[in-house]
Amino acid sequence: MRIKKTLGGKYMRSYKNDFPIFQKNKKFVYLDSAATSQKPKIVLDAIQEYYATYNANVRRGLYPIAEKATKKVEKVREQVARFINAKDPSEIIFVRNATEAINLAAYSFASHNIAKGDSVVTTIMEHHSNFVPWQQLAIQKNADFVVLDISEDGFLDLDLKIKKAKILTLTHVSNVLGTINQIKDIIKQAKAINPQIKVLVDAAQSIPHMKVDVQNLDCDFLAFSGHKMMAATGIGVLYGKRELLKQMRPFLYGGEMIKEVSIAKTTFTDIPYKFEAGTPDIAGIVSFGAAIEYLKSTGIETIQKHENRLIAYSLSRMKEIEGLTIYGPKDIEKRSGVVSFNLNGIHAHDVAQVLGDMDICIRSGHHCAMPLHKRLGITASARVSFYIYNNEEDVDKLIESIKKVKKIFKYG
Ligand code: PMP
Repeated sequence: MRIKKTLGGKYMRSYKNDFPIFQKNKKFVYLDSAATSQKPKIVLDAIQEYYATYNANVRRGLYPIAEKATKKVEKVREQVARFINAKDPSEIIFVRNATEAINLAAYSFASHNIAKGDSVVTTIMEHHSNFVPWQQLAIQKNADFVVLDISEDGFLDLDLKIKKAKILTLTHVSNVLGTINQIKDIIKQAKAINPQIKVLVDAAQSIPHMKVDVQNLDCDFLAFSGHKMMAATGIGVLYGKRELLKQMRPFLYGGEMIKEVSIAKTTFTDIPYKFEAGTPDIAGIVSFGAAIEYLKSTGIETIQKHENRLIAYSLSRMKEIEGLTIYGPKDIEKRSGVVSFNLNGIHAHDVAQVLGDMDICIRSGHHCAMPLHKRLGITASARVSFYIYNNEEDVDKLIESIKKVKKIFKYG
């Protein structure tokens, strides 16, 4: 294990060594974990082990490797349930990603509970995955689509518009501003105003970086993706309170979600399986188990502290750069490891492209949050995002490279 001295003078582990991608090219700087995270070796090994030693379909075969695969999937379901403190593993539905989780909730819950005149409330800071499904549902149902605004420094303006709402759906952490919404207080406040309201939390950008406890938050649904928290792509989760899930109709129909099928009718099996039609992403689920092990052994608080230090350092170094505008909260405690910015006079795509040529990976564009960009009065931004494998050296390289970008574009 390599130990490195950090800015604060403390010695800490170099987590990069756990991730094979950083071994190939030591110059490589990855600052796009909000899009997808890199994968530690134990995750890659778990996938390899599954395919090499117990590859079989689940909940069908009666032979040993099929039973082993089935047991593994259920073990990971329990791991996920413990990770978010769900009451029961049956509250964990495996889906492809956060997008599918939100669509499942929108179609299965809301489509049967929302009628003309009801309202669906979301916020201006949502990723399109937590905006478009609700907007489309509202259009179909002739319901009101209410969008809560943000304050100047990127916080939500919760108001009485939720009085008539059937559902409030909002992000825990903004993938553009980095704002950490005070989700527990918001849910409490929303339920005090409207006890019938259900709340869905988009945890795609929070769960990889901070403790999320669904019972403590008292959310009704929680959606997230495995690939942003070190698991493979193709696996995500919808958590739902048991009683709610039981009332909901399936979203997808097909194999392994039925009790009985006849020409006249079909009856469905219990939760969570009635929402998991077809063969699941078994390797993805296996990878999810390994990712959770990695996150737990690293410690979610350690991850959060490490990222806070990096944000503080990067925000202070970004101030050196004239003409650089940073979006989101000024208070470091209120933001996560996502920093979006623009360089005066240079398009975000140009910034990202030139940095890419220097082996520094960042994101540019509207980050699937067009309404928010419009609200900020911009069409695009550049975004850097951190995870446990980043360090101050990465930030230094970023800053020096941004300065070079300015020179290349003859600005500053
Ligand atoms: N919500 C937020 C806040 C996100 O940042 C993202 C991914 N950028 C999503 C939802 C959608 O995640 P996925 O593409 O994995 O479905």
